[in-house]
Amino acid sequence: MWELNKQYSFVRQGIQYIIYSIVILLIIGYWSEEFYAIFGKNNYVSIHLLMEILIIVVTMTIAIQSWLTTPYILSNKTLYIGALFLTCSFIEVAHALAYKGMPFFITESSSYAATWFYIIGRLVLSCGILGIFCLKEKPIQKNTYRWFIYSTPLFVIVALLMLIYAPNPVLPPLVIDGVGPTTLKTSLQYVAIVCHLVIMYILITKINNAPKIIFLLLGSSIYLIISDILFTIYRDVYDIKNFLGHIFQLSSFYLLFKAVYFSSIEKPFRELLEMQKHLEKSREKMHHMAYHNEVTNLPNERFLMESLQKNLYKTKGNKAILALEIERFSAIKASLGSSYADKLLSMVAQRLKDSLPEKYLLSMQREDCFIVFLDEAKSTQQIMQLCKQLQVAMLESFQIQHFSLNGNLNIGISLFPTDAYKEEELVRYAVYAMHEASKVPSRILFYETSMSSEITEKLILENDLHHAIDNNELLLEYQPQVDLQTGQILSVEALVRWQHPRKGIISPGVFIPIAEESGIIIPIGQWVLETACQQVKEWERAGLPPIKVAVNLSLGQLFQQNIVEMIQHVLEQIELDPQYLQLEITESMTINIDHMTMILHQLKALGVTIAVDDFGTGYSSLSYLKDFPIDCLKIDRSFVQKIQSDETDKALVDMILSMAKHLRLKVVAEGIEEVEQLNYLLAGHCETVQGFLFSKPLHPSSLQENYQMLQHNAQNILEQLHV
Ligand code: C2E
Ligand code: CA
Ligand code: CA
Repeated sequence: MWELNKQYSFVRQGIQYIIYSIVILLIIGYWSEEFYAIFGKNNYVSIHLLMEILIIVVTMTIAIQSWLTTPYILSNKTLYIGALFLTCSFIEVAHALAYKGMPFFITESSSYAATWFYIIGRLVLSCGILGIFCLKEKPIQKNTYRWFIYSTPLFVIVALLMLIYAPNPVLPPLVIDGVGPTTLKTSLQYVAIVCHLVIMYILITKINNAPKIIFLLLGSSIYLIISDILFTIYRDVYDIKNFLGHIFQLSSFYLLFKAVYFSSIEKPFRELLEMQKHLEKSREKMHHMAYHNEVTNLPNERFLMESLQKNLYKTKGNKAILALEIERFSAIKASLGSSYADKLLSMVAQRLKDSLPEKYLLSMQREDCFIVFLDEAKSTQQIMQLCKQLQVAMLESFQIQHFSLNGNLNIGISLFPTDAYKEEELVRYAVYAMHEASKVPSRILFYETSMSSEITEKLILENDLHHAIDNNELLLEYQPQVDLQTGQILSVEALVRWQHPRKGIISPGVFIPIAEESGIIIPIGQWVLETACQQVKEWERAGLPPIKVAVNLSLGQLFQQNIVEMIQHVLEQIELDPQYLQLEITESMTINIDHMTMILHQLKALGVTIAVDDFGTGYSSLSYLKDFPIDCLKIDRSFVQKIQSDETDKALVDMILSMAKHLRLKVVAEGIEEVEQLNYLLAGHCETVQGFLFSKPLHPSSLQENYQMLQHNAQNILEQLHV
């Protein structure tokens, strides 16, 4: 409000001026007779000269100011205004010199010449301003153009001198001595007034563009119109209205001068100041951004490192670094998108801030890892206790719209000076320990030297994995799935292997997580799908009975932009009937049920079938079962393997079997190694099994060659059981 008041203080000032003017006009109008010739008739020539000098000074100043500022402002309008005022200034000089009563100058002074100079000056000014207003603002480039424009006033004044001082007067008189102005003068004066009214109208329509400048211009126009009116109604030069007309004309030019000054000097200067302020602010903002994480607003890695440099050695004693990550954060990000992930991060950040004592520095490393610096770590027990406290603080799940997300923390700890002296190493070691922490039940681990070599190993593998497809190092093995009714092998699961040039065969359990983390899973997944589908066609060509292939899908793959199109394209290209492809998804993909449901329906529409892998090991509630268009559940081998020993696992398997029956889903039991396990599953009416008891995953050619034998073996095993 105050700002607004300040900004528009000129409005108040303007109104004051208008009131003063009206009062003066009223006084003069009422007592004009009393004021007649008040300064003494002999003094009028000098008084007029004095006022003219002032008017010339003001007009000349405007011209000079425009001349000086155009090289910087480069505006055509400012240039033209300057030239216009230079013209007016020249005409005013001629008018002043020709004024009746002035000494001889070139020719005798006369009201004929003086009035013509005056009226032409007046019209030039009004029409000039109107013309300039109607122009478009354009930048001027050449300096010669500036010189050219500023030389035109000279031509104008020379032409006028020639016209008005022509030996035989060409123009009719405008004032008749003793009578006053003629109708022609009054009419021309009205033309000037009309011009100014038009100017005022244009100004009012543009008032929002530059209120202050326009206000000044409006004031100037009003004063000029008042002076025009006074000049049309005065009786003779001694009339106070004539004097007052000059005063208003002078005031009008002064306001114009102010407007030009404001637009060419004051406004740009203020804008410059404003810009500087902005710059200062954005510098501060940039500094903040350089040292803080955008999502959580916590100090970032740079901040942490600088503060560690300052504080690690400042005081004696043990210190510690905690690295914290949200469990399964990348899965959450992949399935819900970054905006949910960011929201979760900032909520976790807030909860961590609330739970940590203020003296500890909480910061963010990269986009998903929190780092806490404990500048006094008395004992490992104390650190452990703090970590547990943080985990407990996260127990209550985070509600983000209709998702309820867990913020379980994996925490790694490195100690100063036991583990390392340097800040980068301390942080890196804490992060190593954090990655390992997900494998222990407490999910808290102190750094150990062996972790470094493991991580380095992983990084090397990741690097090698980038070239695995191009170097033809990947291959698929196929594990038969046996139909327990007939003993036939109607389906297989495709399992990828990596033939590493130096390290030999690497199991997918090792490299698939690396591929998922690094995004290489997308091309690998596509390669697996194409290869498996082609294999099915090949077996068909080789005369094997129709075989369905099950392909594992990773979370990252499923949420890739065009998964449905990709699968459709592969099927079409290979010309494989979609019923021979089954996609295996895992329960961890159920975080974003809505999105998943949509994708699964699209996949189903292609004609492929869908199985839920490792069923029962996930965290999710089973409510998704009713929404997802699923065909098959795969009982995880960890349950199967403990059927004989563990009553709970036994109960779980029973439950899955009966649930599948109710939901009319097929069941594949995985990891059957022993006949007892098979027996139990047979009794529970499980339909299909897969496991080393029947066959290990096989090379495709080996499966093709031994197909009959494998099937025969399977039937034998089953027959023995039935007996
Ligand atoms: P999974 O999908 O649960 O695959 C079954 C795993 O159990 C395979 O391990 C298989 O060799 C093993 N297995 C089968 N029968 C038995 C048995 O009787 N006893 C025992 N102990 N194990 C048995 P593998 O081939 O090492 O694959 C491990 C995991 O790697 C797979 O688990 C799957 O999650 C992933 N994986 C394999 N291939 C791919 C792939 O092409 N894409 C993706 N995304 N993941 C894959
Ligand atoms: Ca599988
Ligand atoms: Ca499995």
